Amino acid sequence: MRVAQKVLKGTGNGALPPMLEQYVRMRDEVAAQLPHAILLFQVGDFYETFGEDAERAARLLRIALTHKSSRDFSTPMAGIPLRALDSNVERLLAAGVCVAVADQVEEPGSGLVERKVTQLLTPGTVTEERHLSADENYLAAVATGDGYALALLDISTGEFRCAAFHTRSALYDELSRWRAREVLLAPELSGNPALLSDFQTRFPVMLSPANFEEDGCCDELRTVLGEVPGSLNSAALRRACGAVLGYARVTQQGELRMVRRAVRFEPGAHMRLPEAAVRALELFTAQAPGGVALMDVLSQTRTAGGRRRLRAWLRAPLLDELSIRARLDSVETLTRAADLRTGVRSLLYRAHDLERLSARVAVKRATPREVASLARTLELLPEAVRLLDGLDGLLGGVRTRLDGLPEVVTRIRAALVDDPPIRAGDGGLIRDGFHAGLDELRSAAVGHRAWLAELELAERARTGIGNLKVGFNNVFGYYLEVTGPHLGKVPPDYRQIATLKDRARFTRPDLREREREIARLEQAAERLELEVFTELRDSLAAHAEALSEAAGALAELDVLSALAEIAVECGWTRPQTVDGGARLTQARHPVVEAATGGKFVPNDAVLGPGRTTLLLTGPNMAGKSTYLRTVAICALLHQIGSFVPADGADLPVYDAIHTRIGASDDLAGGRSTFMVEMSELAAILHGVTARSLVILDEVGRGTSTLDGLAIAQAALEHLHGTGAHTLFATHYFELTRLEGEHPGLVNLHVAAEEDESAHDGRGGLTFYHQVIPGAARQSYGVEVARLAGLPAPVTARAARLLTALNTGSDDGRLTRELAALDLGRLTPLQALELLHGWQRAVVGAEPQQA
Ligand code: ADP
Repeated sequence: MRVAQKVLKGTGNGALPPMLEQYVRMRDEVAAQLPHAILLFQVGDFYETFGEDAERAARLLRIALTHKSSRDFSTPMAGIPLRALDSNVERLLAAGVCVAVADQVEEPGSGLVERKVTQLLTPGTVTEERHLSADENYLAAVATGDGYALALLDISTGEFRCAAFHTRSALYDELSRWRAREVLLAPELSGNPALLSDFQTRFPVMLSPANFEEDGCCDELRTVLGEVPGSLNSAALRRACGAVLGYARVTQQGELRMVRRAVRFEPGAHMRLPEAAVRALELFTAQAPGGVALMDVLSQTRTAGGRRRLRAWLRAPLLDELSIRARLDSVETLTRAADLRTGVRSLLYRAHDLERLSARVAVKRATPREVASLARTLELLPEAVRLLDGLDGLLGGVRTRLDGLPEVVTRIRAALVDDPPIRAGDGGLIRDGFHAGLDELRSAAVGHRAWLAELELAERARTGIGNLKVGFNNVFGYYLEVTGPHLGKVPPDYRQIATLKDRARFTRPDLREREREIARLEQAAERLELEVFTELRDSLAAHAEALSEAAGALAELDVLSALAEIAVECGWTRPQTVDGGARLTQARHPVVEAATGGKFVPNDAVLGPGRTTLLLTGPNMAGKSTYLRTVAICALLHQIGSFVPADGADLPVYDAIHTRIGASDDLAGGRSTFMVEMSELAAILHGVTARSLVILDEVGRGTSTLDGLAIAQAALEHLHGTGAHTLFATHYFELTRLEGEHPGLVNLHVAAEEDESAHDGRGGLTFYHQVIPGAARQSYGVEVARLAGLPAPVTARAARLLTALNTGSDDGRLTRELAALDLGRLTPLQALELLHGWQRAVVGAEPQQA
């Protein structure tokens, strides 16, 4: 009872009504599996929540909070109608709350209705199409031991992979690639407040507890995979993998058949692409609200699976030159053969999400409609195979994997009608002529229906009642209806069953008999259809492996042809993989280019031996940041096997792209901008190698000018020493003198011209967005001051002073006087007098005394 009080937050000491007792019991059971879940408890036409759940639900779903009270007990209560379940579940999941659904599993009678938990829904483990986004839905688990281990599971496709890491930052980088919707943290991590808060700051997703105990985890692996795979050669790996499977199995209520193997991947097999770079290069989301991400421009894929695969490629650019070349070869083939490309793409357009469908088939959960979609998609494959005929490389591999499933199609097509209903239980899904028993039942029913159809005419003739009607409703079943004036003509074998205002309804024993017979036949047919369908569906599970291979091949084909399509549409070129230097001719930033609509100014970039650091100066808004990102995006696209937005490109294989861009737009977890900037810079300086590409924009802007300048210079010198290809954009004009001091460090600037007539302190600059050799002509220090927030009159005055200094006017004279002073021979009084005079000259009047 004390437990009940706690769960229910109720008041009063009396015994709970039986229903609430049942609720408390189920709520406790759910809490043992998903501690933070809200239990939606069916009470008639509503799902109710009670106690603290009710308070949370009312707040999150914005529904009314009432009270459930008995004679001496009262508890908060909030409910949603049954039909609003899906939308409310979605809202709860989006708010990071797990949901358990308890349904009534028997018709309500006089006693307590039996209920059962039918669904456990968490953000990372939902599999029903209506709760899923078309993008990937990873559930992740993290454990430590000898290093760190990460396991990732996408239940909707069955994809299951894991990796081990030496450092936490490597783990973070990898985890950020996958954008898991829910993360399970081993107790050694979640129990450490500093680590936990660090984690929550980086990954603002649901963090759920799970069982990470090693023996239990190994049991879990054996249950799902049949063994503890040898590749899981550390306790951390086994625990992370087992925890993910265990948690997923709880939410799937025991079934996890779509998971067939654990793929151990080497994080080192891919380019390092830290979280900061993914964000700064705006790969998946633009930083400005409503902005365009790179993925949006690249999204020429035609299927959900293709889109997921493209995201995976973007997250994990390749390091292996041969693999890069293999993708580029296929993309090139598809750019050259327009017929092949359009043929493949129009075919993909008609494909359904084969990965998800295969996973549904594997777990034997596919609905009739899903099975029909599967068939429709598989029917496209022979055409794809034909289109890819004679091709080698990746496309040849795709062809092989798409081949050999026609038999499955034939089987489905033979059994299932073309447009079956969603639910399997309602009948109408199996084709005539497929099952002899079913056909028999159906033709028997047809005979009875024909009798019914003729009954109306026959009875009109027999009784002489011209408007006699045969009707049907759910209460009375079939009836004969006669209107008032004709009631006298009703024959004696009619039995009245209902009287309406101006008419009456009748039945007859033989009518009742036919009706019962039709119902019996229909029910038998429905049952049989369900059986036939279940058998079909289960037999498809045997093809799960081949189906998922085909799904993977289709996704790959989609990405390759999408990349080819973009290359053709946007005039991109095939990059050449080279050793050492990078050379981009007329490169463009694909997103900015699309936004500037034909006005984009392409630029060249050359990096290589004797030229490893490019120091880029120029005023704000000149295009420095765009230039930096252009180079990084070209490098990234090259390594996912894509053509690049340039007229020519020679690119080395970079082991990492590091970025530090933007000073004000990413306040994370309450740390100051400067702190964020410095910790990102620290991570870069620690991780960079001679084979990395480093993009730094405005380092040091988050602090005072002198500090910032000092840090920027030190960082620049350090990076230059590593030999990494570095692009460094800065307002600090002072840094340009480093060119002479460090061989290989080269000044560039973005062309801009000052508009003489604009002296309002706003700079009045015309931008050409053209990157040219040499340092910017002036320091733009006044502009920095403006950016820092100095009042407009002050920056306007500064701009005038600057002009004056440069042209040798009065202000210039002051400077020269100052320079010529011999401080050793100056008395304090003389100094004050001089200062007073200068002040008067500068302010232009007698200064006001305080
Ligand atoms: P900075 O980093 O120097 O402040 P940005 O790179 O952010 O400047 O560019 C500012 C704006 O200038 C961009 O939003 C874009 O509209 C425009 N721009 C930048 N580069 C180019 C270019 N090469 N061609 C045309 N417009 C450009």
